[in-house]
Amino acid sequence: MKNKKVISLLLVVLFLLTLTACSTGNKSNESISTVTADNEVSSEKIKVIATLFPQYDFVKEIARDKVAVSLLLPPGVESHSYEPPPKDIVDIKKADMFIYTGKYMEPWADKIIEATKGTSITIVDTSIGVDLMDEEDHHHDHEEGEHPFEWAGAFELKKGKYTWSFSKLNGEYADPEMKMLILASDEKGLDAIEAVEEKAEELFDKTAASKKISDTLLPSEILFNLEFDADQDVTTFSVVIENDGTYVFFTEHFPIEFEADEHFFKDSKGIDVEPSAQEPEGDDDHHQGGKDPHIWLDPIFAQIMVDNIVEGLVRADVKNESFYRENGEAYKKKLQALDATFSETFNKTKHKTIMYGGHFAFGYFAKRYDLEHVSPYSGFAPNAEPTPQKIVELIKALEKSNLKTIYFEELVDPKVARVISDQTGAEMVLLHGVHNISKTELSKGISYLKIMEENLEKLKLGLGYNE
Ligand SMILES: [Zn+2]
Repeated sequence: MKNKKVISLLLVVLFLLTLTACSTGNKSNESISTVTADNEVSSEKIKVIATLFPQYDFVKEIARDKVAVSLLLPPGVESHSYEPPPKDIVDIKKADMFIYTGKYMEPWADKIIEATKGTSITIVDTSIGVDLMDEEDHHHDHEEGEHPFEWAGAFELKKGKYTWSFSKLNGEYADPEMKMLILASDEKGLDAIEAVEEKAEELFDKTAASKKISDTLLPSEILFNLEFDADQDVTTFSVVIENDGTYVFFTEHFPIEFEADEHFFKDSKGIDVEPSAQEPEGDDDHHQGGKDPHIWLDPIFAQIMVDNIVEGLVRADVKNESFYRENGEAYKKKLQALDATFSETFNKTKHKTIMYGGHFAFGYFAKRYDLEHVSPYSGFAPNAEPTPQKIVELIKALEKSNLKTIYFEELVDPKVARVISDQTGAEMVLLHGVHNISKTELSKGISYLKIMEENLEKLKLGLGYNE
């Protein structure tokens, strides 16, 4: 794809996003009312409050008429931006059991736990025993693992002398030395990186690095090994540019790993120089350490959630222990069958990529079935804005792959999927992330298993399933 086309595409995406910018999600202002599964609340029943739909559904399957379950989230409300009002915390204190996904999905759960100290309530964190992953882990197999460098940045530079500095953090350099390569590129922005990436990989893999200690660096096909001065808090290198143009810097580590108070790259006047594009994008998020909370979308992890709920029920109501254990096992068999169907299906689909216009919710699911999951959002929640650059990448990837489906998520205005669909002609299809359900779905008595089966059919269509 040519530069011009990418830029005009970016403008279109920006414009379309502005048009729909005012409607991010269906944040409801109405006072939070809980939905009760069983209207005849007998005093003998265990009163359970479940935060999100998966555990609401699971506990009903396991405990049936022994519990009165309430779903904390009102139907139709997007879950990531939700936090219970004080009134709900009072209700939770009166319950016998409180089930939540985990601290990365409901960071406010700590408050509940604190508020219920000294009461007899049973608290169940369903993520106990699940190996949670961060964003980097998810992408590691497919993207970052391919490059011998961690970071690439394209800079539009004028002739002159620049300085690149490496600082100690907490009294130490992130690494005592680091490989770096500077290549001139005929393109601009992300295309500049793409144009010379292959050459950079080759040079990183095949050349012995030439040692450099506080010295001058010139763009060339020489791989530098920068050695940092252990006696100084900062080691500085001069970068000399002889002609105006775009230069791509490839580094073994993220530049910000060596960034203390000062920006790492400056011109001769000491003014910060920022890259026009970088890979991976948004490396500011790189070290934030949030974990992916979407464990319920993986039928194997869903079974761990079931186990945790069973143990909680046994703690709260030991006299019905065998009832809970039997139902728990029976329900896990259904989840195993679901897992087997998914495995068989994805062995036979032509494509292995889920192009998602929603937030990154299917990471565990994709990993379980060796699929790729592409989303223009960074982070794990839909309240972060997607970057236009990433939307353009998704459009390019869709065009390249011949995929005809762009999936969108539940309970959030699918503005991103719509923009992508407009640009590519791909069909918009709902792929349900099962965070919460709508009023209509609730009245239909929909279940986790039913939603996942519907997801399966939609993925079969979108990814090309051959029987
Ligand atoms: Zn989510």
